[in-house]
Amino acid sequence: PLAALKDPSLLKTDALINGVWVKGHARFDVHDPATGLKLADVANLGADETAQAVATADTAWKTWRTTTAKARAAILLKWFRLLQDHADDLARIMTAEQGKPFAEAKGEVGYAASFIEWFAEEAKRVYGETIPTTDNNKRYLVIKQSIGVCAAITPWNFPIAMITRKVAPALAAGCPVVIKPAEQTPLSALATAELAVRAGIPAGVLNIVTADSDRSIDVGKVLCGSDTVRHLSFTGSTEVGRILMQQCAPTIKKLSLELGGNAPFIVFDDADLDSAVEGAMQSKYRNAGQTCVCANRLYAQEDIYDAFVERLAEKAKALKVGNGFEDGVNQGPLIDDNAIAKVEQHVADAVGKGARVLTGGKRIEGRFFEPTVLADVTSEMQCSREETFGPVAPVIRFRTEDEVIALANDTEFGLASYFYSRDIGRIFRVGEALEYGMVGINTGLIAVAEVPFGGVKQSGLGREGSHHGMDDYVEVKYLCLGDI
Ligand code: ADP
Repeated sequence: PLAALKDPSLLKTDALINGVWVKGHARFDVHDPATGLKLADVANLGADETAQAVATADTAWKTWRTTTAKARAAILLKWFRLLQDHADDLARIMTAEQGKPFAEAKGEVGYAASFIEWFAEEAKRVYGETIPTTDNNKRYLVIKQSIGVCAAITPWNFPIAMITRKVAPALAAGCPVVIKPAEQTPLSALATAELAVRAGIPAGVLNIVTADSDRSIDVGKVLCGSDTVRHLSFTGSTEVGRILMQQCAPTIKKLSLELGGNAPFIVFDDADLDSAVEGAMQSKYRNAGQTCVCANRLYAQEDIYDAFVERLAEKAKALKVGNGFEDGVNQGPLIDDNAIAKVEQHVADAVGKGARVLTGGKRIEGRFFEPTVLADVTSEMQCSREETFGPVAPVIRFRTEDEVIALANDTEFGLASYFYSRDIGRIFRVGEALEYGMVGINTGLIAVAEVPFGGVKQSGLGREGSHHGMDDYVEVKYLCLGDI
């Protein structure tokens, strides 16, 4: 699939340190999850190269931090336009290594680019404060300054957007970054970095350290343990987030963590049912169910339960599964065999405990899984408690508003949640009662660059996107002027 790139020079397979493409002493293979075929081999770096990248970034900081915000914004806007201009090629690379349908990959490129545009604009608005004095001989000022070298460890499910969502605010604030992309999807990261070079982002300001899954652990240890790295942003599993947090404790690093979710999707009996089914389809089956904000467990109120599961099953059955490059495909492969095994396990557990399979339920040859709807699901089943990260919609029956709020909140996670209702009182009550960082009301799609994305409880720390997304990349400094 990569032979068809309009601009073949976007296909980079070496890491990027200090503006130089680095081959490394070892390589690792990247595969197409749809076919299992090897796409490329990529530089497999380790601790030494990571330390070098950090040192390089530190040197670059001295100039980048003093470049005016307006000048940084101009470079970021150039990068933004380059992503748009090369959307087809970036999407092609993404579909090849990640599997999502081409149209969806192109959608991600647009979403990824929008963070660069947004933070380029925000760069110019990192305002300070003057605080009314309590002593006529003094004046109080507050300025915001770039925090320093930032590290980003990113996942494979949004191979470009999870990079730009972290890198754009860092760069806008005046911080250089060292990025460790997911081992499954380094090609998307490197193509994006190549465009950053073309946009004129100075050497050392944006570094990409690629590594396989074993060496990612070594890379992570250097990034977390470094005193020079002042901030770590991570998107991935709660389990790995906990490890990284521990590794960052000795250097008291600032952390932004976007971790796992267990999103409830609630349909009340006063909902517009067609709209709820539509929203559930978008929230559940996007990226084959492999997003941290995907509906993980669905709750339908008893009066509309049967109608809801029937219509959902009908729609799920109509999804076309296949290679993301084929026309009309709605759902690509899952990322790897472990992902398939987890989905199979969740379905088997549910069926073993009495759930009914309304559609799907089985693996299709290769890494594909049928879009699945399970009825008569209960809270005891694994699929209600753990993130399935696959195309399975387990639907649970509920009676009252209080009952469903308690069920929805009964989890250590708190990222996204959704509910459908037409009752304005209920919309406020439920919206305020859900212990989540984000609540979609009468919609299954909530993420854009302009809003704060993030979770509460064990789903993470900090917010990405919106003007809040800049906060983690600046330090607040208080200047006290005396002798006035
Ligand atoms: P997922 O389950 O989505 O693959 P992970 O949390 O395992 O999520 O991985 C997300 C990112 O974290 C990837 O870039 C991966 O290489 C990296 N990663 C996983 N384990 C570690 C670790 N122990 N140290 C540093 N990075 C890690």
